[in-house]
Amino acid sequence: MSNILPTGIELTYLLAASLFILGLKKLGSPATARQGNTIAAVGMLFAVVATLLNQSVLNYQMILIGIIIGSLIGAIVAQKVEMTDMPQMVGLLNGLGGAASALVAVGEFWRLLSMPGAEVPLDATITMILGVLIGGVTLTGSLLAFAKLQGWVKGTPVTFPLQQPFNILLLVGFLAGSAYMIVSPESPPVFLALVGISLLLGALFVLPIGGADMPVVISMLNSFSGLAASAAGFVLMNNMLIIAGALVGASGLILTQIMCKAMNRPLTNVLFGAFGGAITSGDAITGTRSDQVVRSIGSEEGAMMLGYARSVVIIPGYGMAVAQAQHSVRELADQLEKMGVEVRYAIHPVAGRMPGHMNVLLAEANVPYTQLHDMEDINPEFERTDVALVIGANDVVNPAARHDTNSPIYGMPILEVDRARNTIVIKRGMNAGFSGVENELFYKDKTMMLFGSARDVVDQLVSEVKQL
Ligand code: NDP
Repeated sequence: MSNILPTGIELTYLLAASLFILGLKKLGSPATARQGNTIAAVGMLFAVVATLLNQSVLNYQMILIGIIIGSLIGAIVAQKVEMTDMPQMVGLLNGLGGAASALVAVGEFWRLLSMPGAEVPLDATITMILGVLIGGVTLTGSLLAFAKLQGWVKGTPVTFPLQQPFNILLLVGFLAGSAYMIVSPESPPVFLALVGISLLLGALFVLPIGGADMPVVISMLNSFSGLAASAAGFVLMNNMLIIAGALVGASGLILTQIMCKAMNRPLTNVLFGAFGGAITSGDAITGTRSDQVVRSIGSEEGAMMLGYARSVVIIPGYGMAVAQAQHSVRELADQLEKMGVEVRYAIHPVAGRMPGHMNVLLAEANVPYTQLHDMEDINPEFERTDVALVIGANDVVNPAARHDTNSPIYGMPILEVDRARNTIVIKRGMNAGFSGVENELFYKDKTMMLFGSARDVVDQLVSEVKQL
């Protein structure tokens, strides 16, 4: 019996790991994402039950209390959080994951120290050091990212003289302390110093990064929290934790890479470039264009252009999210379809402020997945499109990314809206987007600006279209 149980637990872990991988695969497409989520959750249930059957889990009362408190907080927060606040929520959860892993390392250190005459083995020392470093950095880095996104801390990059040398000094201090621990592992003051340095490094790492780059940082910290869990898995010799942590670590890293690629910015630029520091929202950084004219129309004219078109492509962006205009947009699309207009949505991978931001909002408004088109699929279609309707998007439709080698967004793949027969842009004024770059699309002959907050304007368009 004593051998059967551990084997059963390991086999259940294997099953759970397979379910995680299958779940992740299904999360790759909006059509199967819900199913993927359920499969991964079932895998997690198996993993938790198997762990609870492990004989070395001694205190069931404490675990039960933890499950009840944690589930209650989780359920309440998940119900309350706004869709647009999701990045903060993920950031906070990452931070807590990091804290848990660091606490495992700290707890294990004191457990080993309290065993009379026992020596701390080298591999345990190394994994504890790694757990403390990655877990500590993840905790304070995520908390600061959360505070920046929530507006509790200034979102602009915070830099100070000799910032990088100071960070390097801290890192060198950490390495020196680690080397000391490897030689003489029973040193609580040095271990505590390592914990302190890790916490400081996490905050200092996120401080110089601009608020709008936080989604990339959160995705990277998510990857860190996975690695911290893996390190905790090595400390506890738990295969499930090692595998699950590695999966989170790898997927977080892949997502970070996808976001950087879609912005055409290397990760080093996101982390150390203090992007967005000098530019405040609303200031355009390339030329004033005082010589050029902007064509502005009202909602009546806009409705006529849309209602008499054969094909319309809607390009949602950050402004649609801010205005929470997704339900109105869906209503407009429904109305146009009733009139025989073909309506599709073009989704840029970094439109908005978090990965999948537009997909989430449009799914909330029950827009069918079949109408959503990725950049690669829709770009060749713009030439045959009568009206491209840009709603609160800016950087992701800026043609300068294609040809202006001096532009900060040069090389970023964009939605080629300027190739459409006509373009209507809904935004409140001539403010720049996240990158601070002026958009030449707004000055093109075929572009009509429809000024106003996205939700109000789209509501007006709906009532005008109904009267056609
Ligand atoms: P942008 O940030 O380029 O532009 C948004 C535009 O929305 C602004 O120009 C603003 O103009 C307008 N706007 C704001 N509020 C409203 C409103 N209530 N109604 C109508 N319009 C409004 O958005 P995009 O989605 O085009 O691009 C996203 C940017 O964010 C990219 O540069 C991307 O690299 C960056 N980014 C994206 C991440 C992601 O994961 N998605 C992560 C990190 C960065 P005005 O004030 O004149 O109305």
